[in-house]
Amino acid sequence: MKIAIIKELAEGERRVAGTPETVKKFKALGADVAVEAGAGLSAAIADADYAAMGATIADRSATVAGADIILGVQGPDVASISGAKPGAWVVAGLNPFVERARVDAYAAAGYEALAMEFMPRITRAQSMDILSSQSNLAGYKAVLDAAYEYGRAFPMMMTAAGTVSPAKAFIMGVGVAGLQAIATAKRLGAQVSATDVRSATKEQIESLGAKAVFVENVAGIEGEGTGGYATEMSAEYQKAQADLVSSHIAKQDIVITTALIPGKPAPRLITDTQIASMKPGSVIVDLAVEQGGNVEGAVLGQVVERHGVKIVGHKNVPSRLAADASALFARNLYNFLSAFWNKEQNAPVLDEEIGNAIRVTQGGKVVSERLQ
Ligand code: NAD
Repeated sequence: MKIAIIKELAEGERRVAGTPETVKKFKALGADVAVEAGAGLSAAIADADYAAMGATIADRSATVAGADIILGVQGPDVASISGAKPGAWVVAGLNPFVERARVDAYAAAGYEALAMEFMPRITRAQSMDILSSQSNLAGYKAVLDAAYEYGRAFPMMMTAAGTVSPAKAFIMGVGVAGLQAIATAKRLGAQVSATDVRSATKEQIESLGAKAVFVENVAGIEGEGTGGYATEMSAEYQKAQADLVSSHIAKQDIVITTALIPGKPAPRLITDTQIASMKPGSVIVDLAVEQGGNVEGAVLGQVVERHGVKIVGHKNVPSRLAADASALFARNLYNFLSAFWNKEQNAPVLDEEIGNAIRVTQGGKVVSERLQ
């Protein structure tokens, strides 16, 4: 059993799918591990650190040659992994809806591609969930990015020269990223409020010491669909939410938006008119910018200014914390493969529930129901 950890080639991708820690653990399971030279450099991991744990360091073609499993953060181009065993697994965040042509190419080449972002939200798979591990870091970094762009301090400071007022931070969308953003903004000393469409989050917001800002008395709002994800809301709800946000947002210094709906473009939460109502110098961070954006005027990969308000649209925010993001991503992959490791076969054997959820190609075909 040969596991290959390849270098990420996508622009701006600094993470790596394996660390010396996971190399050591894969070796202990009985696998051979090859790491592409330089794979960990942008996440502060030297080739020698992998080698010290028993990995072979090689160029791309030697790394993937004869591999049974290829681990990536993002899906590699199929041409760059030719030489892997027929039927080899490609395990990564494959972004299958957007990168559909690549998925088709894996099928045509006979690889079995496993999309880690399709991991079901069940208790036993929590430690394998790349969306959670990476969103948590993104929520933290979003607040630091806001603090960096903000020309004022976050905490209240009482000094001999007078008092500095605390920043008011508003978090929109309280999933994994939003909860971490609340906690981080609190730690920095901001006055924090937050909102979501899922009513279950109200208690979570309050338990972190933040103020919950919620639409009340609109019919049929639970906001929660399958797997704990949000559903699209009624027109009536959206109008009530927009009114509530309008009055609240004008008083905020920092807004972090994280709202996503699986398989749909991100919901639009902040309009240009609402941005114009904010004080100059305020900062908005749109963590949903890669899914179309929660904020009107947000630009992917840029910090832009509208009405004196900065709108931050960084790409691939987890990659901005590449060392920690890689460590957690690599553990997600190890936790997944080791949970299914079959000692006799010296290979992972998936069960139906998880296998059917994450397998996108097999036997030359695209097999994922979500891609039909
Ligand atoms: P997500 O990334 O899909 O969305 C982020 C947040 O935006 C969600 O809380 C969502 O409700 C919210 N949102 C959507 N539309 C909105 C709107 N119009 N206005 C305001 N907010 C809006 O969500 P997530 O971070 O993946 O987490 C969703 C839930 O799943 C959480 O309760 C989380 O704890 C749970 N979860 C469970 C597992 C597991 O059991 N394995 C793993 C991860 C997450």
